[in-house]
Amino acid sequence: CGIVGYLGFREAYPIVINGLQRLEYRGYDSAGIVLANEINEGGLYKTKGKVADLREISEKNNTKGTLGIGHTRWATHGVPNDVNSHPHVSNSGNLVVVHNGIIENYDTLKKELIKRGYTFESDTDTEVLINLIEEVKKTNKCKLGYAVQIALRSVVGAYAIAVFDRSKPDEIIVARLGSPIAIGIGDDNKEFFIASDASPFIEYTKDAIYLDDEELAIIKLNKEIRVRKIHGNAVVAPDIQELQLN
Ligand code: GLU
Repeated sequence: CGIVGYLGFREAYPIVINGLQRLEYRGYDSAGIVLANEINEGGLYKTKGKVADLREISEKNNTKGTLGIGHTRWATHGVPNDVNSHPHVSNSGNLVVVHNGIIENYDTLKKELIKRGYTFESDTDTEVLINLIEEVKKTNKCKLGYAVQIALRSVVGAYAIAVFDRSKPDEIIVARLGSPIAIGIGDDNKEFFIASDASPFIEYTKDAIYLDDEELAIIKLNKEIRVRKIHGNAVVAPDIQELQLN
């Protein structure tokens, strides 16, 4: 039900965990986080329960990483338990996702993926989505942003998602349909923040973009954010707003 992400030069862990805590008001039953860094190692922790429980199982372990995404889940598909908690990982182990919302046609997509050899650990609609993205990326031999875009074109439902590739920890892809997502931009594109609302990052930056429905953002370190329509290929000029403190 809540998403927080960070990509930049600081340690992502405290920003993401504290951010999840700020989104607790949205309600949830489980929480999780995945981290990555340039040597391609970073932890993934998830648990049924509170953000405080997540902190407890993770803080004494490997929490290194300048890229991280976290999630508080409000279960819609699959009971609240550790395995169904987000983040979800693709079969290759490389692609990770956090997701708010519902993939309504997940069953049809899942059957198709099983035919193609994919296996599933959880009962969630979200694990179907990350494997669909992996399958599209493999068949089209394309970049992650494009794979997410193409995969979302066959999705019926509602979502805010954040996706990254653990083997390329300089990029996050974010997309939205019917569920809010804000992106905070640090000085000179040296860091980026993602959250369901701006409260987790307002202390770090005042510049933010709110994605509209059916938009996808490619967030890459030291680059301008690129925003595209999911259907069609129209490029959207990012509307950077100044957040007001209140
Ligand atoms: N449908 C997803 C699930 O059940 C996401 C739920 C949410 O919005 O937290 O895992």
